[in-house]
Amino acid sequence: LWAGVPKAPPDPVLGVAEAFKKDPATNKVNLSVGAYRDDNGKPVVLECVRKAQQIVIEKNLDNEYLPIQGNDVFTHAALKLGYGEAFYNSNKDRLAGVQVLSGTGALRTGFDFLKKFLPAETTVYVPNPTWPNHNNIARDAGFKVEFYTYYDPATKSVNFSKLLDEAKVFKNGSVFILHACAHNPTGCDLSINQWKELRDVFLKKNHIAFMDMAYQGFTSGDCQKDSEAVRLFADSNVNMLLGQSFAKSMGLYGQRIGSLSVLTQNANETQNVLSQLKQVIRPNISSPPLHGARIAEIILTNPELLQLWYREVKIMADRIAQMRVQLVKNLKDVGSQHDWSHITNQRGMFAYTGVNKQQVESLINDYHIYLVGSGRISIAGLNTKNVGYVAEAFHNVTKN
Ligand code: PMP
Repeated sequence: LWAGVPKAPPDPVLGVAEAFKKDPATNKVNLSVGAYRDDNGKPVVLECVRKAQQIVIEKNLDNEYLPIQGNDVFTHAALKLGYGEAFYNSNKDRLAGVQVLSGTGALRTGFDFLKKFLPAETTVYVPNPTWPNHNNIARDAGFKVEFYTYYDPATKSVNFSKLLDEAKVFKNGSVFILHACAHNPTGCDLSINQWKELRDVFLKKNHIAFMDMAYQGFTSGDCQKDSEAVRLFADSNVNMLLGQSFAKSMGLYGQRIGSLSVLTQNANETQNVLSQLKQVIRPNISSPPLHGARIAEIILTNPELLQLWYREVKIMADRIAQMRVQLVKNLKDVGSQHDWSHITNQRGMFAYTGVNKQQVESLINDYHIYLVGSGRISIAGLNTKNVGYVAEAFHNVTKN
């Protein structure tokens, strides 16, 4: 029966992580997956999460099903965080929000919903480059997926004028995935003025912004500042959806906790949209899981734990920023003549180093440093013990 099934290629990110696991070298370094590590290279359970988990245990709760749309208290606390308190308080009845399986679930639920209600010919545009799963998710929801211009390798920054020109000529009502902050993989975000210009084009063209916020807090260390673009688009009443993930920001990767919201025009629309989101969720997962939502709900609704979380997000963002500086300093110290300033200019969890495919292969095969084919590295995988080794290896593969 399965003789005709061809072997599928490994996932471009998780495939590298699998190869890392198999490598017996003791000096190996994993810079592939976007997961935060401490200075000893170890996964971190945030203190706010430990405390929230304790509270969950003490409550001695049951394990009954959540409703189809999940834990509403969690979802609304997430929306307050994502859209900001002022917007949320005045517009909560315009937000159709559901609990989803992290950022991936937000995208899939959102695209399945959009596919049912947008004109059949609608194209989804994703930034070039982007997190590769964006293409998969929109494609599997039935959309035609194309790139919009984002990163310019020559200037190692966003080619904003081209992006804007494309947004002006693409068909009215197109869907764009926009990374709300900490763009993966390039680490380059739009400035607030650029967001404003883009907003104006979206309003003129009736485009739909699917904002993906998987790294809130990782650009600036400040969750409020990092959601500026979301607030701007929402305040201006752009057609928008927002996906929020707590995988990175709370270190709840495997708990699969996130939210999806659709901004509507009134409470009646919200109820209708919500009912349709439930129609999407029911045949996919029936209802979402309990535990991660309980932890995130407690953190987001307990003022003390919320402040603790903000501080811990900043600690993570600051350590990553320091590692950028250390990497560039070490590259200079070992004699690299290249300009590596893009690494310190970029923000978020990743650096788009600019090394080519061949150099990536050499880093993996000769130095046991694992990174994805695009040359993207997870800065969170660097620490004071391995940054010197990584810098030397990068120098060795780029010096000729
Ligand atoms: N969007 C972007 C841009 C991402 O980088 C990721 C994770 N790598 C996600 C969404 C989804 O992650 P998760 O499903 O783990 O929240």
